[in-house]
Amino acid sequence: MSFPTDLEIAEKADIQHIKKIAEKLNIPEDDLEYYGKYKAKLPLKYIDEQKIAQSNLVLVSAINPTPAGEGKTTVTVGLTDGLNKIGKKAIAVLREPSLGPVFGIKGGAAGGGYAQVIPMVDINLHFTGDFNAIEKANNLLSALIDNNLQNKKNNLNIDPRTIVWKRVMDMNDRALRNVVIGLGGTANGIPREESFNITPASEVMAILCMSNDFKDLKEKLGNIFIGYTFDKQAIYCRDLKAEGAMAILLRDAIKPNLVQTLEGNPAILHGGPFANIAQGTNTIIATKTGMSLGDYVVTEAGFGADLGAEKFLHIKCHYAGFKPKVLVLVTTIRAMRYHGGAKKGEYENPQFEAVKKGIENLQKHIENAKNWNLKPIVAINHFATDSEEEIQFLKDECEKLGVKAIVADEFTMGGEGMKELAAEVVNAAENYGNNFTPLYDVEDSVENKIETIAKNIYGADGVEYAAKAKADLKSIYNLGLDKLPICMAKTQKSLSDDEKKIGRPSGFTVTVREFEFAAGAGFIIPILGNMMRMPGLPSIPASENMDIDDDGNITGLS
Ligand code: ADP
Ligand code: MG
Repeated sequence: MSFPTDLEIAEKADIQHIKKIAEKLNIPEDDLEYYGKYKAKLPLKYIDEQKIAQSNLVLVSAINPTPAGEGKTTVTVGLTDGLNKIGKKAIAVLREPSLGPVFGIKGGAAGGGYAQVIPMVDINLHFTGDFNAIEKANNLLSALIDNNLQNKKNNLNIDPRTIVWKRVMDMNDRALRNVVIGLGGTANGIPREESFNITPASEVMAILCMSNDFKDLKEKLGNIFIGYTFDKQAIYCRDLKAEGAMAILLRDAIKPNLVQTLEGNPAILHGGPFANIAQGTNTIIATKTGMSLGDYVVTEAGFGADLGAEKFLHIKCHYAGFKPKVLVLVTTIRAMRYHGGAKKGEYENPQFEAVKKGIENLQKHIENAKNWNLKPIVAINHFATDSEEEIQFLKDECEKLGVKAIVADEFTMGGEGMKELAAEVVNAAENYGNNFTPLYDVEDSVENKIETIAKNIYGADGVEYAAKAKADLKSIYNLGLDKLPICMAKTQKSLSDDEKKIGRPSGFTVTVREFEFAAGAGFIIPILGNMMRMPGLPSIPASENMDIDDDGNITGLS
């Protein structure tokens, strides 16, 4: 018999009413805002700084992944179940998936196998409507900008050619990447070029995830940079008096969503910014709520540790004041084969020689963790095709670096397969004395901050700047935005900015092609490659195999 699909496992689960999950966190029913029986929004009043200071934050990150993804979400969910199995009050705090990719190739993003968050279909589709609210708030600002161009009375003299604010939609739709709007004569707007981004790429998403409360949210929305006037004055969202109305649209979206794992443990899913041009991690509000309600919060940062953990530590921790107690580095034997030079089609079977070489990628991430004064634990996300020899080698090599590597069997066994890893996480939280120290000071120059990341984390010899990047940098200094943290946008497949450089590249420089910035969310974005902001669909999209029957049962959602 073949292993059941994620959807089959999720649909068979013995799902509990969400009030039962809330009870475990001592949240009375009256405080729950129900979205059906299995989802509820939580009020912001549970955030308690004293409890946060006592809670243990566990950050799940990874080596540079193969194109298939190495299982950070799956391990995060499994580890939460494992910690609960050994008697700890643990909560998974994750991003909400974007709906667009569900119909393409990627499929859902709610874990996999016996380590999933449920209700799976809801989570992967409209969920509690947060993405819709973000889309509307984003597009309200777009409509106000175009209205201002049209309107003689309140005209701010915005030069339409300088507008960087984009419309968004939560769908993979490449035909909207470059469009012209405002056609049709004087009554129908001022014609200008426009592009659509997918909703997770919206700065409103990044802002929601970075905000502490409504006041903070409004201030950040007001700081969104829109473009320049014809006489080169910067225009912000607040100049259009849009932030109040946008915040109204986010009234419910700001509240974290409570759901459950397959094993009935609490999970909070909230926000879902891209990991390339944004911070790639759930909301500060959700993480704080989790830490206020549980002894352990297990959370994930998108992509590999050179991007995800780096941004989590230098951006999110900077703004929220978090210090993770434990860093779990998810690795797979498959990825070690890939980094060791195994060819496509060979990653799925034992390649001991390749693993021996590919492990250098993991070794670099372990060194990076130590640079931050964190002692990582390696989770070997177990696949059926791993050989004993390969696993033992990985464990032995980690041991040489003073790091534990533990097999994570969450996919086939759920929390039961994660007890050893959970016990080591507890041991680390209680005894390692992790003392996270950022690698750079935000007050430093933009160039120094970038160089620190490139040299220390990527292993680069230096940083080069293209002409466009130099010009953009001048604008950043002119606008007074240079004291913000850095949000690097580069390929996740390599430690370098060249996806073909697998393993542990050396003797390379990275090139900043241009800069963007999120004046509202609060970070500078050096662009080191082609960044996808609106994905497309493959020639045979997953949607072709999806269906719903007369009773509302869904098939084909992976
Ligand atoms: P990430 O969060 O790192 O992108 P996910 O946890 O979403 O990765 O996992 C990527 C895909 O791999 C999912 O479809 C998941 O079901 C699958 N997967 C994860 N771990 C395993 C495993 N141990 N065995 C088989 N499939 C797995
Ligand atoms: Mg994930």
